[in-house]
Amino acid sequence: MFIDGSWVEAASGKRFPVTNPATGEHLGDMPDGDAGDADLAIAAAHRAFPGWSATTAYERSAVLYRAWQLMTERSVELAELMTREQGKPLKASTFEVKYGADFLLWFAEEAKRVEGHWLPSARPDQRFLSIRQPVGVVAAVTPWNYPISMLTRKMGPALAAGCTMVLKPAEATPLCAKAIFEIFVDAGIPDGVINMVTALDPVPIGDTFTSDSRVKKLTFTGSTAVGRKLAGAAASNLQRVSVELGGHAPFIVYPDADPVHAAKGAAALKFLNSGQACISPNRLYVPNELLDAFTETLIARVQKVKAGNGFAEGVGVGPLVNEAAVAKVENQVIDARAKGAEVPVGGGRLTDGEFADGHFFAPTVVTGVTTDMVISHEETFGPVAPVIAYDDPAEVIELANNTNYGLAAYVYTRDISTAFRAFEALRFGIIGINDVNPTSAAAPFGGMGDSGLGREGGHEGIDEYLETKLGGFAL
Ligand code: NAD
Repeated sequence: MFIDGSWVEAASGKRFPVTNPATGEHLGDMPDGDAGDADLAIAAAHRAFPGWSATTAYERSAVLYRAWQLMTERSVELAELMTREQGKPLKASTFEVKYGADFLLWFAEEAKRVEGHWLPSARPDQRFLSIRQPVGVVAAVTPWNYPISMLTRKMGPALAAGCTMVLKPAEATPLCAKAIFEIFVDAGIPDGVINMVTALDPVPIGDTFTSDSRVKKLTFTGSTAVGRKLAGAAASNLQRVSVELGGHAPFIVYPDADPVHAAKGAAALKFLNSGQACISPNRLYVPNELLDAFTETLIARVQKVKAGNGFAEGVGVGPLVNEAAVAKVENQVIDARAKGAEVPVGGGRLTDGEFADGHFFAPTVVTGVTTDMVISHEETFGPVAPVIAYDDPAEVIELANNTNYGLAAYVYTRDISTAFRAFEALRFGIIGINDVNPTSAAAPFGGMGDSGLGREGGHEGIDEYLETKLGGFAL
C-alpha cells in the first residue's frame, strides 16, 4: 500500500493473492488492508491537503504533465501488466493505457483554467467575487474492468483541483493501481497527496471512507448496488458524491440505416473488454425489415471473434473476471433459451484445453429476445449480443428508455432529423450516433438514474472536485 509517501504493508501483516484470469497463474501478493490502514491513509491525505492545495495550478499541472509523459514512456509495460492481471487483449490494453494517460494530459491543462467570476451587485459600494477551491480529501473506489483509466479519470481532476486522495482499487487489479502510483511518485508528487489502500474485503475500507468527516468527497466507479450503498452512507455524512455505475445500453437500428454497417458496429462494440464495459450495448433493437441482413452480418462477425489469452495473436475476447461473472452470463443465456430465444453462435462456457484454468465464455449471439427474458432488463457484463426485433420506429425510443439505467445509448440512422430526435429523446448520458466510441478525455462521461451521479472527463470533470466560494466586498 502507499501511505504518506511510503510503500507499506498492512498493519496486520496480511496479504492477498493476485491471479491471471486467463490462466489462474499467481501474479503476486498485495497487502490486505483494513479500517485501521484506511484511517492512516486518510490522516496522511488530511495532513497533506493544506500544502498541496496551496501550490499553484502551474505546479500541479507540471506534476500531471510529468505523470502523463511517464505513462506514455511506460505504455508497453503497463499494457502487458494489464493483460496479465485483467485479461483483455493486448491491443485493448494498449488502447486503455493511452485513454488513461489522456486524462492526465487533459487535466494538466484544465488545472490552469479553474477560473472565478466578478458578479454585479445592486449596491454601488459592493463587489462580489466568486472563486472555486478544492473540496479537500477525496476517497476513491475503482473497478477492475478498466484498471488504469478509471484511476486516472479520478486522479487527474482531483489533483488538478488541489485535492489530496485516498484510493482503494479493485481487489482483482491492484497491480495496475500500484504501477500508476509508481508513476506519480516518479513524477514528484509530494508525500501524502495520494495514498492507496489495498484490501481483499472492501467493506471496512468503504465504511471508513464514508464515515470519516475528514473525507469531503467520495468518488466511486462500479456496480449500481455497491454505488447506491456507498453514496447513501457518504450522503448521511454530507460528503460530496460522484458515482459512475452500471448500464444497460440500447443500440437502435432505424429502418433507413445500413444493416450491414450497423451490425459491424455492434459486433465491434459488444465484445470490447469481453462485454465487461458499462457502456456495452445490451439490447440491439432491429426493425423487422432489416432483421435478416443485420443478424446475418452479426453472426458472421461474431463467428470470427476469437476467445483466448489476451497475449495470443488474433484474440478478440479475453476471459471474464471470475467464476461469478461467467455464471451470471450463463444464467442469462439459459433463461433466454428457456423462454424461446435462439442462440446461433456461442452460448456456453469455454472449458477445454487453453481455457481450462480461466474464466471464459464463448462470444454469443442471442436472437428472438423478448421483454420477459432477464437479459432484456439486466446488465450482462459479458460477451453476449441480444437481438430484439421491433415493428414501429415511433415506439423504439420508449422501449429503449424503459430502464432505470441511463449511461450509454447508440443509434444508427442516415436521416439527420431522426438522429437529432433520438439524441434529444433518449434518457442516457452518452449517445453514439453512428458512432461506437463516443468517449474521450475531453468529453463528459457519466449517466442518469441508476447509472450514477456526476460526470468525469471534459470541462465538467474538474467541477466535481471544486467548491464555489463567494466573497462580498463592501467598499
Ligand atoms: P463492484 O461494485 O463490485 O466493485 C467496484 C469497486 O467497489 C471495487 O473496488 C470493489 O472492491 C469495491 N466494493 C465492492 N463492494 C464494496 C463495499 N461494500 N464497500 C466498499 N467498496 C466496495 O463492481 P465491479 O464488478 O468491480 O465493476 C463492474 C461494474 O462497474 C459494472 O456494473 C459496470 O457497469 C460498472 N462500471 C461503470 C463505469 C462507469 O463509468 N459508469 C465504468 C466501469 C465500470
